[in-house]
Amino acid sequence: MFKVNDNFLKLPGSYLFSTIAKKVNAYSKAHPDKTLIRLGIGDVTQPLAPAIIDALHKSVDEMAHAESFHGYAPDLGYEFLRTAIVKNDYTSRGCEISADEIFVSDGAKCDSGNIQELFALDNKIAVCDPVYPVYVDSNVMAGRTGVYDLSTERWSQVIYMPCTKENNFVPEFPKEQPDLIYLCIPNNPTGTTITKAQLQEWVNYANKIGAVIIYDAAYEAYISEEDVPHSIYECEGARTCAIELRSFSKNAGFTGVRLGFTVVPKDLKSGEVSLHDMWARRHGTKYNGAPYIVQRAGEAVYSEAGKAQLKEQVAYYMKNAAAIKSGLTEAGYEVFGGVNAPYIWLKTPEHMTSWDFFDYLLENANVVGTPGSGFGPCGEGYFRLTAFGSHENTKAALKRLKAL
Ligand SMILES: *Cc1c(COP(=O)(O)O)cnc(C)c1O
Repeated sequence: MFKVNDNFLKLPGSYLFSTIAKKVNAYSKAHPDKTLIRLGIGDVTQPLAPAIIDALHKSVDEMAHAESFHGYAPDLGYEFLRTAIVKNDYTSRGCEISADEIFVSDGAKCDSGNIQELFALDNKIAVCDPVYPVYVDSNVMAGRTGVYDLSTERWSQVIYMPCTKENNFVPEFPKEQPDLIYLCIPNNPTGTTITKAQLQEWVNYANKIGAVIIYDAAYEAYISEEDVPHSIYECEGARTCAIELRSFSKNAGFTGVRLGFTVVPKDLKSGEVSLHDMWARRHGTKYNGAPYIVQRAGEAVYSEAGKAQLKEQVAYYMKNAAAIKSGLTEAGYEVFGGVNAPYIWLKTPEHMTSWDFFDYLLENANVVGTPGSGFGPCGEGYFRLTAFGSHENTKAALKRLKAL
């Protein structure tokens, strides 16, 4: 009789977004006359930019001819894409990263879930609380758990770094020493960031204690302030302690197209063992690459036309973020984020719990958001709204919120 990987059975019963979907469906069924506005889930709504559509059409046509047909992609991804990435995301920012340190993939969710395979099961991981759930759950599935404390909702093998308004949502070095440190900057869900000087301290800390930082920069394109780092490799010494995850989902609307990449520098080693070589082996064994046509679309993200069009798209969403932030502030809410990220993180009014506020908004404003407690115990008493809607919907939602 087969046995299952019972680490999966240790996962908390319900997934945040399926709980939300259930509640929303039940409400819609009971109130078919109401129009809901969804400012909850982190998915884009604007169509793909023309430069990307052109690149897709062109590469699809290439596939129709034997001389320009493409089969399996090279293990690391096509060189045309990796060189465009290096030039635009790294060299231009003074980061020393080469094209053969880039691993093209179908997105940062997979990579952020898979990267833990490189590390021993007894490693301790440190995460921000609240946190993007993939970091913790993928480690739990692998068995990096210890025991779960129901009262604190915490795993003993996971070190939680509280991020609340008391510390400006900036994690502090934990008392207990971690082996892996997950940082997501700009942050999902809080929408907050740290400065380059603060990130440099994390890099120094990781190098000192021999930890690896897994740096999720999926929202890099939304950074508007000068002293916020776009890449961890802007910091000195990051090549010996950091892996960086990037995605085309939020900067270019590829959530349904699928493209991302992970940077594993060749200087990142445990003794003589190269994490770069390990990830190359893993990538070659378990992954067969992002589609040629999608990698061509990714290349178009870095074309002059692509860059100009995507700048406008990001500005479109950030206009929503600014409107939500100022509108809610006017309405008396305490609001965070929304300056370098498409997420607004607000304090629930009158000490309501995150789920009570979710129900309150759903029933009284017909607006759907995300309860902060779904991202971790320190998210209790907070609520996330996203700027990914249309201007019209965002405006309408704000009007409803202000009328409460
Ligand atoms: C959206 C998001 C990603 C991107 O995931 P993809 O798989 O590339 O779509 C990665 N990390 C965080 C924190 C995100 O919110």
